[in-house]
Amino acid sequence: MPEEIIYLGFGSNLGDRQEFCDRAIALMNLLPLSRVTGVSSYYETEPVDPEGRLGESWFYNGVVRVESSLSPTRLLGILQETERALGREDTDRHGPRTIDFDILLFGQHCIDQPGLTVPHPRLHQRRFVLEPLVELDPALKHPTLHRSMSELLEAIQDPSRVNKLDIKPGSKYRSRLACSVPPLS
Ligand code: AMP
Repeated sequence: MPEEIIYLGFGSNLGDRQEFCDRAIALMNLLPLSRVTGVSSYYETEPVDPEGRLGESWFYNGVVRVESSLSPTRLLGILQETERALGREDTDRHGPRTIDFDILLFGQHCIDQPGLTVPHPRLHQRRFVLEPLVELDPALKHPTLHRSMSELLEAIQDPSRVNKLDIKPGSKYRSRLACSVPPLS
């Protein structure tokens, strides 16, 4: 596969949300054929279900930009395995989750296959997705709506609250540094 710029959304609203998001970023750094080229701030966000109803357990959300030669299907498979490894249960799709990943954008590709729709069909309706996307790449164009992420954010109707947090993303798991070989003395 040629290399593509991919935007992945992540979120957690169960347990130590910062810890799960930090682990998610550490694992994104280990994706094969890929490198992480951007990580948004964390945002604490009010939960909304697909019918637009507000819930109780607030999320931590963010977006990672990855340059990757993985196929969309392989990437989705790895993300779903990672969700399971981080303790996500599949019993209630809209219930609390330790970690949730979404493939938001895969280059400018449009994918519509069983189990995978890209661009993510609700991307343009969700403040908790658009705010971190705008932080990373405000001029990035939506492949089918042909509007930039900042234009989509200006037009959004979503009333849920989204608060940018003053936390360094990934700060609990600097795994590469921790594993680096000490200099010879
Ligand atoms: P969720 O509970 O929001 O993580 O949704 C997971 C389900 O959405 C899985 O069955 C995926 O196969 C499906 N899905 C469809 N499109 C996407 C996408 N762009 N990113 C992640 N999951 C997707």
